[in-house]
Amino acid sequence: MCIFCKIINREIPTDFIYENDDVVVFADIKPLAPVHYLVVPKKHIQSIINLQSNHQTIISKIIFAAKTVAEKLNLKGYKLVFNVGREGGQIIDHLHLHLLGGWTPVRE
Ligand code: AMP
Ligand code: ZN
Repeated sequence: MCIFCKIINREIPTDFIYENDDVVVFADIKPLAPVHYLVVPKKHIQSIINLQSNHQTIISKIIFAAKTVAEKLNLKGYKLVFNVGREGGQIIDHLHLHLLGGWTPVRE
């Protein structure tokens, strides 16, 4: 079983900042921004590369969960990033969306 499936099944104890029927959201262990969370579908899908047409709803649910968490954290702006495949920087083969933010704006 993959590491994110173990986190979802609570075999690896991890605090969820948000959870619903379809996704969990938890802090990235090696944050690359002042705020860095991972939005992870409970269903094991490897990557955007493996997306099928019946997965389209889950993608919108992942993005909506990211928006919900960003609002909860009062983020005015943020980045949403999918790393896709090894050449795209993907290390964990369980689909996830990076929610990155918390920077001070250069100009208001
Ligand atoms: P990616 O490079 O898109 O596959 O991103 C995987 C992310 O998962 C990296 O940013 C890691 O820091 C993060 N990560 C790996 N293991 C854990 C863990 N046990 N808990 C939280 N984040 C993790
Ligand atoms: Zn998995």
